[in-house]
Amino acid sequence: MATIANNLQLVRNRIQAACAQTGRPADSVTLLAVSKTFPAVTVRDAFHAGQRCFGENYVQEALDKIAELADLREQITWHLIGPLQSNKTRVVAEHFDWVQSVDRLKIAQRLSEQRPPHLPPLQVCIQVNTSGEDSKSGVTPGEALPLAQAVAALPRLQLRGVMALPAPSPDSVVQADALAQVRVVFEQLRAAGLPLNVLSMGMSADLEAAVAQGSTMVRVGTALFGQR
Ligand SMILES: *Cc1c(COP(=O)(O)O)cnc(C)c1O
Repeated sequence: MATIANNLQLVRNRIQAACAQTGRPADSVTLLAVSKTFPAVTVRDAFHAGQRCFGENYVQEALDKIAELADLREQITWHLIGPLQSNKTRVVAEHFDWVQSVDRLKIAQRLSEQRPPHLPPLQVCIQVNTSGEDSKSGVTPGEALPLAQAVAALPRLQLRGVMALPAPSPDSVVQADALAQVRVVFEQLRAAGLPLNVLSMGMSADLEAAVAQGSTMVRVGTALFGQR
C-alpha cells in the first residue's frame, strides 16, 4: 500500500515535470493506471491512494476485478486497452466506461448496439498503429479518418481520441518520431472536424517523451505496480 502510494507520487511527479518541461499545465495529462495481471486488492490500494482511472487488457480478468470492486464502481473509471473480439463486445459494453482499442467498425457497431440505454455513451478511442508490421492491433494512419468518422456517427459511442503504443526504441529520436506520427494522425482527425481531446500514448518507459509529443493520457503499469 505504502509502495503503491509512493509509486503513484513518483509517477505523478514525472508527469508534472514532463509537463513543466514543455510548458503544459500539469492537469493536461491524465494518468491511467494499468492494472492488468494485478489483483483487485492492488487496485483497491491504488484507489485509496487517490487513483481513479484504471486500464485493463484482458476482458475476463477485468470483469472479475470490476465485480470484486463493485462497491467502488461509481468512483472508478474502467478502460479496456487490450484487443477486443466480437464475442466479448456485449460484456464490455455493459461493464466498461471506455474502450481505447477500437480498430474495426464492426466492433464499434456492436458496442454501440449493445451499450445499455441506462448508461452514458461508451467513451472510445481509435487505436492507431504507426509502426507497420510490429503489431496486428490498430489501423494504419491512412485508415484512421474513415474509421473515426464512422465511429463518431454511432449513437451510443462517444469518440474521444486516438490511442497508440509505438514500439519502444532505445534511440530517443526514433522514439520521438514514432510518437509524433501518432500526434499527426490525432491532429488530422481534429482538422477534419472531429471534436477529439484524448491522445492516449506513453507508458512507464516513455511517458516523458509522450508528454513532450502532446499526449493527454499516459497508461502506466510497471512504474506503479511493479514488474508483471
Ligand atoms: C501493459 C500496457 C501498458 C502499460 O505498460 P507499462 O510498460 O507496464 O507501463 C500500457 N498500454 C497498453 C496498451 C498495455 O498493454
